[in-house]
Amino acid sequence: MDHVSEALTLRINARAKELAGQGRKVYFFSIGEPDFPTPRNIKDAGIRAINSDFTKYTAGAGIPELRKAIARDLQDRLGLPYAPGQIAVTIGGKFAIAAAVMAACDPGDELLIPLPCFPSYIDQAHLAQAVPVLIPAREEEGFKIRRADLEEHLTSRTKMLILNTPHNPTGVVYSYEDLRPIAHFIRDHGIYVIADEVYERLLFGRLKHVSLASFPDIFHQTFLVNSFSKTYCMTGWRLGYCAAPEHLSGAVAGVQSHMNSSANSIAQRAAVEALAGDQQLVADMVRIFERRRDLMVELASRIPGVTFPRPDGAFYLWLNVKNHLKGSVGTSYDLSMHLLENFGVASMPGSAFGTEGYLRLSYAVSDDDIRAGLQKLKEGLEALK
Ligand code: PLP
Repeated sequence: MDHVSEALTLRINARAKELAGQGRKVYFFSIGEPDFPTPRNIKDAGIRAINSDFTKYTAGAGIPELRKAIARDLQDRLGLPYAPGQIAVTIGGKFAIAAAVMAACDPGDELLIPLPCFPSYIDQAHLAQAVPVLIPAREEEGFKIRRADLEEHLTSRTKMLILNTPHNPTGVVYSYEDLRPIAHFIRDHGIYVIADEVYERLLFGRLKHVSLASFPDIFHQTFLVNSFSKTYCMTGWRLGYCAAPEHLSGAVAGVQSHMNSSANSIAQRAAVEALAGDQQLVADMVRIFERRRDLMVELASRIPGVTFPRPDGAFYLWLNVKNHLKGSVGTSYDLSMHLLENFGVASMPGSAFGTEGYLRLSYAVSDDDIRAGLQKLKEGLEALK
């Protein structure tokens, strides 16, 4: 446990909530979840599940109708040929990732993790006694990891790669051309990959999601992870899944069955409705995020001394603040705390994602808060001069 850190993200959010509780205006750019409620039809399905006493243990891999609905959804939208038996429904995408790491890695095996990254990857590697091998993605390459970067870190103990697209915290989206050489790397070295695609529906413009699982050569090595959290505003329901050939998805279900028994029965019924119901709600939410993305980009580009990649997906802006780190505010954590305590701007420090010199700003907040909050951010940075 010495290697496992308290999630910095939770600590900052707790302080932000404490300040808000004291009556301070706080701009919650720190939040990692949509600010919309779970859609009505999904909530009603959950209520119906309770009222019909659907409140008992389910099969470890999930209820058959949900596994079937997920397989159909992956086929219809992405052309991925998973059978219902290849789906393991899990407690959030996060547990699917943890279970995949536990299933694939022996103690001492190395797990390739491009940086910046979702913080839990590193701790999950430690929990499995695997070794996280951190590979910085270059800013000049648009924060996308390249095959050459991966090759550089390959050893005889390399067991697995985690690749996330659309990406938290940068908002960067990998194209087919970006993914192909990475898929060849996975194929050529016979390693496993976790394709963390929990933001795959949150794409802007005309972009279409390309799943790493769509490369037939590596289908048998791929744990595809997805979630109901972001797409359907269901973060608290805790529901995700792993899609993979049965020897992999079965392993994930096996880990889960011994640690959690199964995902929540009520949430599973609600998730069936999420997939069966009107998808226009998702499209409407994405349109709102896209409008906010445009507003963030416009306002942030007027702040002197910061740069960022234009996000094509998810709901985060990854701000390079290196020009502002000096003196008593020497780290991104110091800067994040300065902005929170003195200007009411809650952000996540880059160090939480393994990369110093940046702040992650979530735009799961209202347009008004984006306008006023970015003005405060600008003032907070100017105050450091
Ligand atoms: N992967 C990434 C990149 C995330 O940002 C998150 C949540 O923030 C998750 C996985 C896990 O989400 P959940 O466990 O809610 O499905």
